[in-house]
Amino acid sequence: MDCIFCKIINGEISSYKVFEDDLVFAFLDINPLSKGHTLIIPKKHFVDILDIDNKSLERVAVASKNLAIRYSKKLGAEGFNLRQSSGAIAHQDVFHFHMHLVPRYKNDGIDLNSHHTNQFIEVEEVFEQL
Ligand code: 5GP
Ligand code: ZN
Repeated sequence: MDCIFCKIINGEISSYKVFEDDLVFAFLDINPLSKGHTLIIPKKHFVDILDIDNKSLERVAVASKNLAIRYSKKLGAEGFNLRQSSGAIAHQDVFHFHMHLVPRYKNDGIDLNSHHTNQFIEVEEVFEQL
């Protein structure tokens, strides 16, 4: 399969690996938003959040937590954004499930949390549909 993340897992493409076990692989993002920006991925090829199996998702989550602990100690990260994009409309660019772990530092200038939207969303209406 022509998937760059599968190629990273099997070593065809080199990467800065920060963690690996039987189900999970984690490596530094090539175009980092912040120091330590990491991608945590399942070793099995799943496309997105609709596709990934629960076991792999759980293990990706636990690996993300453990890396956050490590980065808080070793990099002095003061906070983290965990981010996952599923689907082209959500700006997923690589169609092998991946969790972004973005360490945050004082005055890093990153604005992932802006609540700007071009739509007015009535929260109560959304709630009633759930
Ligand atoms: P997405 O936009 O799909 O959520 O994120 C894809 C991420 O993969 C981007 O942050 C991009 O920098 C990263 N990326 C793409 N190709 C490579 C690569 O070959 N090596 C590494 N380490 N990261 C990559
Ligand atoms: Zn893949």
